[in-house]
Amino acid sequence: MQASDSTSTGRLRINGQRLWQSLMDLARIGATDKGGVRRLALTDLDRQGRDLVVGWLRDAGASLEIDGAGNIFATRPGHSGNPPVVLTGSHVDTQPSGGKFDGNYGVLAGLELLRTLNDAGIATEKPVGVAVWTNEEGTRFIPTMGGSGAFAGVFTLEYLLQQRDVDGISFGEALNSIGYAGSARVGGRAVDAYFEAHIEQGPILEREEKTIGVVTGGLGQRWYDCVWAGQDAHAGPTPMEARHDALRGAAQMIEAMNAIALRHRPDGRATVGFMQVKPNSRNVIPGQVTMSIDIRHPDDAKLATMDRELRDAAAAIARDLRLQCQVRQVVEFPASHFDADCVRSVRTAAETLGYPHREIVSGAAHDAVYLSRVAPTAMIFVPCKDGISHNEIEDARPEHLEAGGNVLLHAVLARAGLSSS
Ligand SMILES: [Zn+2]
Repeated sequence: MQASDSTSTGRLRINGQRLWQSLMDLARIGATDKGGVRRLALTDLDRQGRDLVVGWLRDAGASLEIDGAGNIFATRPGHSGNPPVVLTGSHVDTQPSGGKFDGNYGVLAGLELLRTLNDAGIATEKPVGVAVWTNEEGTRFIPTMGGSGAFAGVFTLEYLLQQRDVDGISFGEALNSIGYAGSARVGGRAVDAYFEAHIEQGPILEREEKTIGVVTGGLGQRWYDCVWAGQDAHAGPTPMEARHDALRGAAQMIEAMNAIALRHRPDGRATVGFMQVKPNSRNVIPGQVTMSIDIRHPDDAKLATMDRELRDAAAAIARDLRLQCQVRQVVEFPASHFDADCVRSVRTAAETLGYPHREIVSGAAHDAVYLSRVAPTAMIFVPCKDGISHNEIEDARPEHLEAGGNVLLHAVLARAGLSSS
């Protein structure tokens, strides 16, 4: 029997209105004219946002710790007194023209969970915590998901602190200047489970009129730099059949990538989002083109097949057009598979609460992807308007955010257990 099904907590619900109010209050810090938020990691606005959230968490009676990467941990003690903690959370940094909900929702749903437990006078067996991860967006500092990555040991704290923004300011300097370089050790914290609530950032839930996405994992990703080499030549005197046009190679490659992703539908993705044409002059046949390729799939074997198809396509196009083509892989993220028990807790909570739901794979990376490497993890998605995110017009419905908060509450309670005394 799960704790959330017991008569004492089965009817427990979060306060959706209070959650919405917290979201709107936090969104005022860094608010943009078009209704979005610009609160880049480790800026003074980030400090103001963190200060507000930390104050709220403290008011909810949680004890606060900050680690060397600026990750914030708020803990509500359990009856057992000691860790491992059942953790939830997300991030409060935003994109330069970001929205009110990406990340902020996961943190404030965690806050609302603590407030709800307090109001109902519920004591849990295990401690329940809320984490605020530093620099998830990776806008000001690379790498993305910096705080959770350091926590999970994907890279070292030293590496993270040395990263510099475009003005040459290091992550470490910026962290010090906003007063969030904490003394707690990065990582090594005993986490019983991690649940992250997040807007979907895609169109599937809205399209299918589902309130809850039971996230089973994240897409594997590979990123490439692809360079086409031909020969610069004059646009007038050079006959069509004598050309070595590097841009034609790139153009055919874009179409080839689209076809590859469609062959692996519905989960395959392929994107060319960056291109540099040389010499980029209107009366010169392009001699060199550099392009990015981003492929994704939830199945690593299928991703490897897409990799092979990509390389074959590049070779065939190069042969056809008498070009040289170099394909270099620069990033690889294996597909992540969330913990079966945690995913089941999310599904059970959605079912028990009567919310329409479906399983879904996250197309974007999240802090939860790194957490899943060190702790049993799952995520809860709620719909966002037209699937739009990383945009000032990002929007979500209060009743969907409330539903996600209720699923989070019951998934966490099922895991943390009620104190019997
Ligand atoms: Zn996010």
